[in-house]
Amino acid sequence: MNLETYRNILVKHWGYTSFKPLQEEIIKSVVAGKDTLGLMPTGGGKSLTFQVPTIASEGICLVITPLIALMKDQVNRLNSMEIKSVAIHSGMSAEEIEIALENCIYGNYKFLYVSPERISTSIFQYKVARFNLSLVAIDEAHCISQWGYDFRPSYLKIASLRDHIPDNVPFLALTATATPHVIEDIMNRLVFREKNVLRTSFGRKNISYLVRKVEDKGVYLIKTLLKVKGSGIIYVRSRKRCREVAELLLAEGISADYYHAGLPGEIRDKKQSSWTTGETRVIVSTNAFGMGIDKAEVRFVIHWEMPDSIENYFQESGRAGRDGKAAFAVLLHSPSDTGRLKDSLRKKFPPIEKIKDVYEALCNYLQVPQGSGKDNVFDFNLYDFLSKYRLPAIETFNSLQFLQREGYMEFTEEINNPSRVHFIVSRDDLYKFQVANESFDSFIKLLLRSYTGMFSEFVPVNEETLSLKSGASRDTIYQYLVKLSSYNIIKYIPGKKSALVIFSEERLLRKALFISPENYLQVKERYEVRLSSMIDYAESDNRCRSVTLLDYFGEESDRCGICDVCRKRNELDLSKYEFDMILEEIKKILSAKSVDAEELVRLAGYPEEKTVNVIRWLLDHNKLRRDDEMKLKWKS
Ligand code: ADP
Ligand code: MG
Repeated sequence: MNLETYRNILVKHWGYTSFKPLQEEIIKSVVAGKDTLGLMPTGGGKSLTFQVPTIASEGICLVITPLIALMKDQVNRLNSMEIKSVAIHSGMSAEEIEIALENCIYGNYKFLYVSPERISTSIFQYKVARFNLSLVAIDEAHCISQWGYDFRPSYLKIASLRDHIPDNVPFLALTATATPHVIEDIMNRLVFREKNVLRTSFGRKNISYLVRKVEDKGVYLIKTLLKVKGSGIIYVRSRKRCREVAELLLAEGISADYYHAGLPGEIRDKKQSSWTTGETRVIVSTNAFGMGIDKAEVRFVIHWEMPDSIENYFQESGRAGRDGKAAFAVLLHSPSDTGRLKDSLRKKFPPIEKIKDVYEALCNYLQVPQGSGKDNVFDFNLYDFLSKYRLPAIETFNSLQFLQREGYMEFTEEINNPSRVHFIVSRDDLYKFQVANESFDSFIKLLLRSYTGMFSEFVPVNEETLSLKSGASRDTIYQYLVKLSSYNIIKYIPGKKSALVIFSEERLLRKALFISPENYLQVKERYEVRLSSMIDYAESDNRCRSVTLLDYFGEESDRCGICDVCRKRNELDLSKYEFDMILEEIKKILSAKSVDAEELVRLAGYPEEKTVNVIRWLLDHNKLRRDDEMKLKWKS
């Protein structure tokens, strides 16, 4: 198959005219049957790298992702393009899961999206062996690495899939996290047959990274937002602050709203969409905002405080300027922020005994008896749990994270599951039922008129819509559905909105609950390392921001020329041309011998002030060093 085929699919199904950088290379690599690790920044277009080749070829693609909302979104999009796709996640009943898997074997489905904890269930392993599987795509692949900031134990089980599928099915791992450790880890843990990394530069040439050391962040913000144009995001670290900052801006007549995970889903959706459409100009948010946002014209992302890793900072700030036009990523910094962030370490790492307290409280809350609960799925409302057991929010949340890390349980984000209906009788039997039970006749007709496919699978239905169509109240509709289900005509799963907790292990006795102290310390150390890189970024003022960020991801790059550090350097009053000329001259002189600064200025033969500026810059950037006699040497 040639590249033209893939391009045609791109045009036909998405209406895009050309591939983005690296998309074609990744597609070629997986089509050649190679295990592939694709590294692209957020928004780089990773999804198309498994969608396009799958559409072009025979068979089904298995997509593993922890983000249920995103999974549903992609499945809807694919289905609306008439590409049969289905998702399996923990919010579904055993029956629905079975039907979905059967459909993947017999129903010409092209995509199956699953959350990672599915992989290790026996039903899944049994069925997947019968798929005509063409590709396994692992999205958010950094979740497999204990080095990463978002480790999920269930990802470790993905490699075991290889025991159940043909040898020649390639794995495509995708992520926007590219630290060298994580890259190695992903390929090892997915047991790549051969190492194979494809990466685009993570550089974002149109983003100007700025760190602003300001006393009064509010004043700075107002001043800036009154001056610059366009839409943007302000990230803050607490829900309370979200509201405060939004109110501050509103009071100045700046169009703003706030967003955090504690708001009801419908309200969040509303706030997000009015920001996306431009009705709201500025959204002030915790890091809950961003999953799945797809807005190209974001002119600025401002961090009120730094997040706890460069990974997070890069990802969040990277939401600016996806349209390729000039954009700003601003980090507001005050010296006390560093102290506060270090303090938060304590809360982030509760003592092991506290973690065990939380475990016991959670098991009691969910009424899981000792020795049972393995593979059980529970609805979970964190705030209800916190208030019933009078637990402190942050420590408890982090204790739960630890329990997840240790593989005892897994948490999902809040998901919105619509009601679903599946006819479990044949059309003939249904007809007989309708004749015998006239009072149901018109309701059944309404159902059949409104939805298709209900005889073969669960189909999402909306009680509200049915009520509007029929003129019956919502409650009446609900009663009909419940009755039909009690007559065994349909299966009806009422919709709900919830987060879930999935027990990976049975409930253990407190003393048997093992939280490895080595692990605990190691996780803590890695966290501290990530944190200190972030702090360095905020506090240093002599290294190009963009170079610093890319270096963190193992990428070499030239200075960007547009960050605050480069701008200051530009003010050295040197053109890039002059700078490079002087630099070359200095390099030439120093490669012959070491000299002191004064002599260097004289030998270089350029205006003194300019030469001194370049020397100072080179010292700041560790290109030069002084030897014992204070002579300057070129550092290679
Ligand atoms: P990632 O997973 O890398 O963050 P996505 O796969 O979600 O990125 O894609 C981001 C956006 O870019 C989506 O709206 C997608 O439709 C769009 N996109 C992907 N490939 C192309 C392309 N070749 N041309 C134009 N837009 C594209
Ligand atoms: Mg993605």
